[in-house]
Amino acid sequence: PPVAIVCVGMAGSGKTTFMQQINAHLHGKKEPPYVINLDPAVLHAPFESNIDIRDSVNYKEVMKQYNLGPNGGILTSLNLFATKIDQVLNLLEKRAAPDPEQPARKPINHILVDTPGQIEVFVWSASGTILLESLASSFPTVIAYIIDTPRTSSTSTFMSNMLYACSILYKTKLPMILVFNKTDVKDAAFAKEWMTDFDAFQAALHQDESNNAFGGQEGGEGSGAGSGYMGSLLNSMSLMLEEFYAHLSVVGVSSLYGTGIDEFFEAVQEKAEEFKRDYQPELERRR
Ligand code: GDP
Ligand code: MG
Repeated sequence: PPVAIVCVGMAGSGKTTFMQQINAHLHGKKEPPYVINLDPAVLHAPFESNIDIRDSVNYKEVMKQYNLGPNGGILTSLNLFATKIDQVLNLLEKRAAPDPEQPARKPINHILVDTPGQIEVFVWSASGTILLESLASSFPTVIAYIIDTPRTSSTSTFMSNMLYACSILYKTKLPMILVFNKTDVKDAAFAKEWMTDFDAFQAALHQDESNNAFGGQEGGEGSGAGSGYMGSLLNSMSLMLEEFYAHLSVVGVSSLYGTGIDEFFEAVQEKAEEFKRDYQPELERRR
């Protein structure tokens, strides 16, 4: 069966650009994917979708009709779309199976899913959960968590971003690939180092701290990550994150230039196997 790759990440992290790049990559290998766009608010998607939420709900009309702001409009559009999930699954299952009328047609190997810019609308809504669970009940499903690398290069944004990724892993209970994007602007080596070497992360932390205004009071009691409440919190979090990191695949890519995409697909293969081995039995047990 095909693997479903669901792209999530903060607004502006590059989900759509990344989708465009992996879509082009698969087309280049003569393995066209099945593409689903779940972002009702995207003005012009840079790739063609087989299923597009915009074909069935008009986001602007939804806002008007229900008197909603942008986030409410996206959420309501997603809710309306989720009511049709059985039709979506039917289409997917039909496309994934061989067609006796078109024996030459190649089976699809990948289903790519783009999600709304605002990550919380997808990850923390009932309809997002329904969409994800439905996908995962039919296909091996992996989460690609897209990170804006240049914007996560300070230790505090990095830590927040990792905690957020961890909460998504916990919420979705699906295998995850961390995709450090925009490596043409900033290399992801620092992130990989921080994820494997806690001493390096702590050293960077002290460095960031002595550079920021609040860390200025030398020897001030309880200031600084190495001491007091923040210090012990950080140490506990690092233990938790170590466990989290151990279950992740990490790749650095540039969605603009297409670097790192082969590595990404290797990680997808690995995570799809993991899904079948560890996640599927659990899903079936819960059902
Ligand atoms: P989304 O909101 O997560 O879907 O993000 P978009 O794909 O719309 O990208 C947000 C911005 O980041 C756009 O201006 C993209 O051109 C830019 N961007 C995306 N990927 C890359 C990348 O790999 N390198 C650089 N330099 N810019 C990127
Ligand atoms: Mg987008």
